[in-house]
Amino acid sequence: MPRNILPVKLNEIKEGVVTDILHNGMGVIMVDQHYPVKLVDAFLGEKIRCRLTQVDRLSAYGEVLTVVKPSADRQNQNKAYLLEAGVAPYVNLSYSGQLKLKRRQVEQAFAAVDLKLPVAATIGADQPTHYRNKTVVPLKNQNGHLTTGFFDRKNKDTIVPMDDYYLNDPIIDQTIGIVRDILDQFKTPIYNDVTKQGAMRYIMVRRGYYSQQVMVVLVSHLAQIPDEAAIAQAIVEQVPALKSLILNHNPRQTSQQLTGDNRVLWGDAAIHDQLLGHDFVIGPNSFYQVNPKTTEVLYQLAAQMGELKASDHAIDAYSGIGTIGLSIADQVQQVYGVEVVERAVEDAKINIAQNQIKNAQYIAADAPVQMEKWRDENLPADIIFVDPPRRGLTETLMDAMVYLNPDRVVYVSCNPVTMARDIKYMTEHGYQVQGPIQPLDQFPQTAHVECVALLVNKH
Ligand code: SAH
Repeated sequence: MPRNILPVKLNEIKEGVVTDILHNGMGVIMVDQHYPVKLVDAFLGEKIRCRLTQVDRLSAYGEVLTVVKPSADRQNQNKAYLLEAGVAPYVNLSYSGQLKLKRRQVEQAFAAVDLKLPVAATIGADQPTHYRNKTVVPLKNQNGHLTTGFFDRKNKDTIVPMDDYYLNDPIIDQTIGIVRDILDQFKTPIYNDVTKQGAMRYIMVRRGYYSQQVMVVLVSHLAQIPDEAAIAQAIVEQVPALKSLILNHNPRQTSQQLTGDNRVLWGDAAIHDQLLGHDFVIGPNSFYQVNPKTTEVLYQLAAQMGELKASDHAIDAYSGIGTIGLSIADQVQQVYGVEVVERAVEDAKINIAQNQIKNAQYIAADAPVQMEKWRDENLPADIIFVDPPRRGLTETLMDAMVYLNPDRVVYVSCNPVTMARDIKYMTEHGYQVQGPIQPLDQFPQTAHVECVALLVNKH
């Protein structure tokens, strides 16, 4: 067939069976065996009738009109707004179906790099909805009132209004509503990214799972918002358990939500929460795992898989505020941590002091650069924990790690595709995987998967 002739047309109605699920959670039906149509809310084996909403050279996007033959795992929740905003693509998939699918996604990621490794069944969350301890939502004046929610996937100018965000701790949802209504009463100008006018851009809310402390961050285009003192007072009066109210000044014209420019309007500059009995201070800019309950399971698992010894020198790379290293510090001799966000390292240092940990040292640096520095210093490293962002590790970091020659590397990953790529590289450089790759569901209702794997030194 000539390349410029597409097998489908825009708005055409197609029917087909879902043969694959992509890493972003979209179901795929094939047209003429080679042309994929990607669909939200379409699960493996389902027969779907859809309309094509975007047709490109190599693939198309469609919207589901009818599920002609549903999967046994489909459980319609009647929450179309979550699919419109794209925040919970698996909302209509039973929880056991989600766990099966996530295991399959990890298996596929490893198969794609020709690694045949066993993948264990996904460890599920006890509470698969309303689990998130943090959210950042945009605001917009829409249909005559101030609206909060998430942007419509298909129309980025419109917010899909939400009261129940389904993934958030309900107190967070309630807090967003209170702050939004206060801003609405004060007629606070909302930032418009076309005219570059206005002030308020986002509301961020964080809540400690154990501490129940609430942090509210008002992200503003202007250094000061009109009626700031009165708005702050109203928030302080109306938000229960508020511990920290911050104004984050973000004059940037990018998609970055928060800058490092924070001003405390009321209360503390950070909140606290606990993980595995250790207390952590969490500032507005620090990465902190969003699912507090499964994070404890994850860290326990990582420590267990690492078979820690009292004589171990351990590295915690991509450490955030030091949560992994500090939770294992009492089981090893020494912990060295590295993290690129300086404020997170400042938090890590506070956490070390507050938990009276004497054997941990955290450094603000690029992890690959620091790993090479440690290599040059011949740092003793028996075990290395890595927990990189979605893009995974770099070869520079892995080469330095191999040189440091640890017995064990525990790889914690939020992206099985880069994890598989990196593990392949490590297996070509003297390491082998021991035991199964273990997926764990940190992000129920979404297409994200967390995994842990243990690599051991072949020599
Ligand atoms: N281990 C922590 C954080 C994991 S998230 C926890 O469990 O909470 C990944 C972390 O890597 C983030 O804190 C991010 O700021 C950090 N990071 C991203 N790029 C980095 C780099 N090049 N060097 C060091 N840290 C980096």
